[in-house]
Amino acid sequence: MNQSKSQSSPLFQIILSAFILSSCQYNPLSSEPAPLPSLPAPPKPSPSKPSESSPSFQTCKSSDQEFQCLALKIVSYEDSGTPSVLGKIQAETLTNEINKVWSQCKIGFQIERYESVNPLTLGLQYNPEWRSQAGKVRSTFSDNNSLLVVATGKLTSSTIAVTQMPGYGPFGVLVEDSFANNPLTVGHELGHYMGLYHFRNSSNLMNPYIGTYTENLTPSQCQIARATNQREWVQMMR
Ligand SMILES: [Zn+2]
Repeated sequence: MNQSKSQSSPLFQIILSAFILSSCQYNPLSSEPAPLPSLPAPPKPSPSKPSESSPSFQTCKSSDQEFQCLALKIVSYEDSGTPSVLGKIQAETLTNEINKVWSQCKIGFQIERYESVNPLTLGLQYNPEWRSQAGKVRSTFSDNNSLLVVATGKLTSSTIAVTQMPGYGPFGVLVEDSFANNPLTVGHELGHYMGLYHFRNSSNLMNPYIGTYTENLTPSQCQIARATNQREWVQMMR
């Protein structure tokens, strides 16, 4: 999925900015939805990296046996002379806000790994050209036991975020700096991560235009997300 900046004129964007933060396309390679599998599950990378779990992050584990608690790995870009796009405390606040939205589906997230990195030291660009580089970014940071969110500099063109849906990896959300701490933007992208397509309803989290009140999810969407987690992301569940 990729979320796009408004195509409106600058003046109009200012007027609408409180209501329309972004739009989103969900397939990074075309404007049409990629078919959901039916495709074979992607191969899981075998070597597991050393744990960098931080006990300081809150858990989403629940006594409710139905609750799905998923591990997140958050990577935040930093540049010499600029602070990290998404600080550690901001990342925790963001996750708490995302959890409020996703609680209606009995789904939550907990940060297990947080890294602030200078992408230049890894051969990556601070402002990635996402069509050609999103796969490389995901390959660089993804692991086999957490969902990946990478807060980058500006993504090219009108895109503000892009997420690889279930099917073929590497997987991960890329979200650019000015939207990286927006729980409805990142929560929307996690919806794509969990197999949800856009749903045109002005109060729905998966509405392609994300605004102040786009925070609802339908029972059907919850069912799809939960089933996707059971099918694709069992290793990410805690
Ligand atoms: Zn989207």
